[in-house]
Amino acid sequence: MTWGGGFGGGPPGGFGRPSAPGLPFAGIPTELQTRVDGLVASEPDHAASSLVFDQNADESELRRLTLTRLLTKYPGMLVLSGLLIVIIAVASQAGPKFTEIAINKGMVPGHTSFRVVVVMAVAYLISVTVAAIAQRFQAQVGGRLAAWVMNDLRVKVFAHLQRLSLGFFTDEKAGVIMSRMTSDIENLQQLLQDGLAQLVLQGLTMVVITIILFTTDVRLAFITVVLIIPALVGASIWFTRASERGYDKVRDGIADVLTDLSESLHGVRIVTAHNRQRHNVIRHRNVVGAYRDANNYTGHINAVYGPGTQLLGVLGQAVLLAVGGTMVLHHTLSIGALVAFFLYLNRFFQPIQLLVQQYNTYQQGQSSITKLRALCDTEPEVRESPDASTLPPIEGAIVFEDVSFAYLPGRPVLENVDLAMAPGETVAFVGPTGAGKSTMAKLVTRFYDPTSGRVTIDGHDLRDVTMHSLRSQLGVVPQEPFLFAGTIGENISFARPEASEAEVAEAVERVGLTEVIERMPHGLDTVVHERGQTLSSGERQLIALARAFLAHPRVLVLDEATSNLDLHSETKIEAALDVLLENRTAILIAHRLSTAMRADRIAVTDDGRIIELGSHAELVAAGGRYAEMYETWVSQAEAAAHD
Ligand code: ATP
Repeated sequence: MTWGGGFGGGPPGGFGRPSAPGLPFAGIPTELQTRVDGLVASEPDHAASSLVFDQNADESELRRLTLTRLLTKYPGMLVLSGLLIVIIAVASQAGPKFTEIAINKGMVPGHTSFRVVVVMAVAYLISVTVAAIAQRFQAQVGGRLAAWVMNDLRVKVFAHLQRLSLGFFTDEKAGVIMSRMTSDIENLQQLLQDGLAQLVLQGLTMVVITIILFTTDVRLAFITVVLIIPALVGASIWFTRASERGYDKVRDGIADVLTDLSESLHGVRIVTAHNRQRHNVIRHRNVVGAYRDANNYTGHINAVYGPGTQLLGVLGQAVLLAVGGTMVLHHTLSIGALVAFFLYLNRFFQPIQLLVQQYNTYQQGQSSITKLRALCDTEPEVRESPDASTLPPIEGAIVFEDVSFAYLPGRPVLENVDLAMAPGETVAFVGPTGAGKSTMAKLVTRFYDPTSGRVTIDGHDLRDVTMHSLRSQLGVVPQEPFLFAGTIGENISFARPEASEAEVAEAVERVGLTEVIERMPHGLDTVVHERGQTLSSGERQLIALARAFLAHPRVLVLDEATSNLDLHSETKIEAALDVLLENRTAILIAHRLSTAMRADRIAVTDDGRIIELGSHAELVAAGGRYAEMYETWVSQAEAAAHD
C-alpha cells in the first residue's frame, strides 16, 4: 500500500468499519452495504491524470487571457450556439408579421378568409415552437461551453498561482487572491452561461425588428427613430456609465469583505486572546456596509433605468397611435400594418432593456477578465531559465559568493555575504531578530534570487538549474510546520506520495514519533484538521521532521521553532534533529544556543552580515559576540538552576 491517495480522503479505516466502543455508529448500515459495494464495483476507474505541470508556462498559457481566446478553443460549440441564436432571433419575431397578414388578408370586411387566418395561426405556432426548441438547445450548448471555459480558466489561473514566487503571496492579500478565484470567476460564469448569448440574441433581435419596422412602414419607422431612439440612447449611455462605476464599487466591496473575513478567520486565536471580537465585528460591519451601499447604488440605477425606458416606450406608442391612427383614417396605412407596428414596437424596447442589463453582466465579466489577466500577467519574480539544466544528484556543498539581497529596492537585507559549507556540514545561523537568517535560507531554497552575487550547490549556480531538480534534493522544515487536511500518514508522505508504508513507518520511528502515533485514535490514518490545529506544536514539529526525513533530501533547511516546549518534547525534537541532520548538509536557523551548539559551525549574523564564523569552541575562545551570548545564556541557566 502507498500513502499516495491524496488529501481530504474518506473516513479513517474505510467503509463499513465498525465504530469504536462507546462511539455512535457512523458507518454504512449492513442492509445497504451490498448496494454500496455494487455501486463502487460499477464505478469507472479514474485513469491517472495526464496533467503535466511545468515551472515555465507553455506557449498557449503565455498568450494573453481574453474572452475570445477562451471561447474560440471550442469552435464547434461556438458556431452551433451562434446558429441557434440566429434561428431564435428570426423565429421569435415572425409572429407579428403573421398577425399583419392575417388581419390584412383574412379579416378585411367583405374580403374575409378563414383559410388565411388559420394558415397564419399555424405559421405563428410553428415559429414559436421552432424558437422554443432552438432556445432549449442553445441553453444546453451555451451551458456546456460555459462549463468548459470556466474549467479551463480555473485551471489556468490556479496553475499560474502555483508558478508565482513566494514574494507575490507575501505582498498580495489572501482575500484579494480569493476574490479573483471566486467572485471574479463567478462573474464570468454568469456572462458565459447566458450573458453573451443574450447579448448577441438581443442585438440581433433589434436588427431584425428595425428591418421589419422599416419594411412595414417607412414613415412610422422614421418617427420611431427620430423621436424615441435618441432619448433611449441617452438614457442607456447614462445607465452604462453609472452602472460601470457601481459595479466597480461592488467588486472592490466584495474583495474587502473577503480580505477581512480571511484575516479574521486566520487570526481567530489572537482575536479571541486579545478580546478583539467586538472591534472585529464593528470593522466587518463597516466593510459589509460599504458593500451593501455599493449594491444599493446599482439597485437604485437599475430602478431608474428600467421603468424610465418603459415610460419612454409608452410615450412613443401614444405618439405613434396618434400619427398611425390618422394615417389609417386617411387610408394611407392598413390596420394590419398598424397592429404589427405596435406589436414590434413593444418588442423593440424589451431587447434594449435586456441588452443594457446584459451589458452590465458583460461589463462585470470584462472587468473580471481584466483583473484575472493582470493576475496571469504577473511574472514570477524567481524565474526558471529556459535553458536550465537538471541538477545532478548533489553532495551538498553550498556556497554564498558575495551575496547581497534586498526585498525592497534600496533597502538591503543581506550585504556581501560569503559562506562556504562543506557537504554534510551543519551550520547554525544565530543572531538578533531581523538579522537576515531566514533570508539566507530562502536564497538556498530559491524562494528569492540574490540581488547580486550567487548561491551555488556543488558549483552549480541555483539560477542555472531547474527548480524541480533543485527542490527535490532540498528539505525544508519551517518554523511553523504546515499540515494539510488529511491523515497524518498523508502529511508525512507529502513530499514523496509514492513512499511505501514501511518507509513511512521507518520515518516515524527514526524521528521518535511512534509514541505520538500510538496515542492517536486511528494511528497514521488519524485525520488532522486543516493546518494541524488539533495537534500540539511539538507533535506538529515531529510530523514535519518525519516528512523531511522521508523526503531523503541531501540538503536541509531547518528553521527552529521558537515556541517553548516542555523539556520532554524538546529532548525528543533534539534527538529527531540529530537523526535528520546525520550526513546531510544543513542550514539550521537556531533560536536557542543549545541547538546552535550541536552544529559543526556557527555563523553569527547581524545586520545582514556574517560577523563571526566557527565552531562553538572556537567562537567561545575568540571572545566575540557569540562568546558574549554564550556567557549570558550560561549565567541565565545557572540562575534558573538555583531558583
Ligand atoms: P528572525 O530571527 O526574527 O526570524 P531573521 O534573522 O530570520 O529574523 P529575516 O526574516 O531574514 O530575519 O528578515 C530580515 C529583514 O528583512 C527584516 O528586517 C525583515 O523585516 C525584512 N523582511 C523579511 N521578509 C520581508 C519581505 N517579504 N518584504 C520586505 N522585507 C522583509
